[in-house]
Amino acid sequence: MKIIAMIPARYGASRFPGKLMQDLGGKPVIVRTYEAAKATNLFDEVYVVTDSEVIFQEIELNGGKAIMSIKEHDCGSDRIAEAVEDMDVDIVVNVQGDEPFTSKEGLEQVLSVFDGPDADKIDLASLMTEIHDWKEISDPNCVKVIVDKENFALYFSRSPVPYPRDKNASMQYYKHKGIYAFRKQAILDFYRLPMRSLEAVEKIECIRYLEYGKNIKMAISNTQGIEIDTPEDLIRANKVLKEENKVAVNNKYRNFPMVPKVVFGPGCFDQLTSILAPQRKDKAPFIFLVDEVFKNDKELIDRINPRFNDKLLFISSDEEPKTTQVDQVVKDVKAEFTYKPSGIIGIGGGTILDLAKAVAIMLSNKGSAADYQGWDLVKNKAVYHVGVPTISGTGAEVSRTTVLTGPVKKLGINSDFTPFDQVILDPDLTIGVPQNQWFYTGMDCFIHCVESLNGTFLNAFSQSYGEKAYDLCMEIFVENDLTDEDARGKLMMASWHGGMSIAYSQVGVAHAMSYGLSYVLGTKHGIGNCIVFDHLEEFYPKDVILFKKMVKEHGVEIPKDLCKDLDPDQIEIMIDIALSLVPLWENALGDDWETIMTRDRLRALYRRM
Ligand code: NAD
Ligand code: ZN
Repeated sequence: MKIIAMIPARYGASRFPGKLMQDLGGKPVIVRTYEAAKATNLFDEVYVVTDSEVIFQEIELNGGKAIMSIKEHDCGSDRIAEAVEDMDVDIVVNVQGDEPFTSKEGLEQVLSVFDGPDADKIDLASLMTEIHDWKEISDPNCVKVIVDKENFALYFSRSPVPYPRDKNASMQYYKHKGIYAFRKQAILDFYRLPMRSLEAVEKIECIRYLEYGKNIKMAISNTQGIEIDTPEDLIRANKVLKEENKVAVNNKYRNFPMVPKVVFGPGCFDQLTSILAPQRKDKAPFIFLVDEVFKNDKELIDRINPRFNDKLLFISSDEEPKTTQVDQVVKDVKAEFTYKPSGIIGIGGGTILDLAKAVAIMLSNKGSAADYQGWDLVKNKAVYHVGVPTISGTGAEVSRTTVLTGPVKKLGINSDFTPFDQVILDPDLTIGVPQNQWFYTGMDCFIHCVESLNGTFLNAFSQSYGEKAYDLCMEIFVENDLTDEDARGKLMMASWHGGMSIAYSQVGVAHAMSYGLSYVLGTKHGIGNCIVFDHLEEFYPKDVILFKKMVKEHGVEIPKDLCKDLDPDQIEIMIDIALSLVPLWENALGDDWETIMTRDRLRALYRRM
């Protein structure tokens, strides 16, 4: 049995014009309704059928299916009838466009009647809800329905039916909820049959079926939706949505996404073209964001193998990514291409990987990247994005965040849509990394492990990844007797595992302070962490000693005295930025962190760096 949902959507609703295009939590009402219907997984297809160019385009833009009605129609059923006339379907469900919270339960109920013993008799099915309040029973805006003992509709009315002559007789009143499931023939008949007097006087569409002797089976559903009929309804709906989101965020056990596809091994970068091929959409290009360090590396560029109108953008990683930079790249891509890109591929270190993630997100979300700095603020799925690290340590290839410097904060876009859809881990790509840089970025991984393993958020999940990554760092940086090839492969794995470890816990003191340093002085992440970690023996005693040993062993210079003579105002900004990273402090120092990490203590620490 082929079952489809049809959402009739008229732009100019009489009571609240344009209501279907009003914003509901960042998306138009009609898009929310469409997504809710789709998310029930009850339908083979979901369509919006509309008279409006604007609604049509909005649905298509959001990856949905829309149909333009050809003729003028008086009602939703006519609009649907026209659309399904030539379709091969058995059951058509009419979902109201202004019911964005359409529940799966209600739709399931209305469809379930077609599995019942009297299914053959049913021309269409609809829903009813119990009502108890006399004010509602007598309200002409509320359509009542009365049924026989098998729940077939006898009549629909705006009057209170039945009339309660005997006030002591018990009676359950039902309100009609217009979620219809039609057999295809029933809706086509409706379209052809002229309106009769009962329908005309009550102004209730479904009476037409009764007048022509059709059987309407009613299912009972007591779930409450919110219809958007007035601007007040919209305000209420926005509130409900916010509450729902809050519940999702505050779940005790976070439901983290992971990178769904990853390929690993020396030389595996050659598979890039074949990995991308199935993701290519007609005229939509792939955009490659590549670290500028590879600009003259002809061999690597040949291996990227851009096709058709694909675009290579070489980007400097001298500075860490900024929200303004993300916005600019998105603007340029939108200006150059009519089609949304098939994908964004970041090839480089943490800087380029974060930029690629942010650009992919912002290509399908409105406004500026700065609007999404924080936890779970992203609304729409990102464009397909691929990460190819060319230096190991940050874990940016696996993480759920992109670290961005914005106008007022340095904070990642943390969301379920941030992680890459595909990662290519080719250790050979890291061959050219300069020694100091190799160390700084590698230490980012070491510090991730230390902060995760010593944090209060630690759990078996983060511990297992953190311990493995820590051990790998020991092999690479302390024992120091691996072949170059082994060391490259192992550092790539350490980076991945370190990233996984903090995904399920959090980083700590070094990261919080390093963000402050970076915001004010532009110090890059890896080196900034090293500068800070060098002074954190009070917090991580054993590991700071180990760190100093590694610094010596590898002959690396850690910059000193950056803050000694800094303007007091700048130190205060550093402190503000560091203190704003509440989850990091909670992980590092527990719930009482504010009494432990005072401004004075932070000031003294910064002055030593
Ligand atoms: P990076 O991307 O800034 O690169 C460092 C330097 O190495 C650059 O000069 C770059 O050109 C060079 N380089 C990279 N690959 C090379 C290669 N194969 N050969 C020669 N040179 C090469 O450094 P990074 O330490 O990887 O990344 C730091 C960034 O990552 C920061 O912006 C930080 O905020 C971010 N980060 C993000 C996360 C996350 O989870 N999203 C975690 C940690 C850090
Ligand atoms: Zn880090």
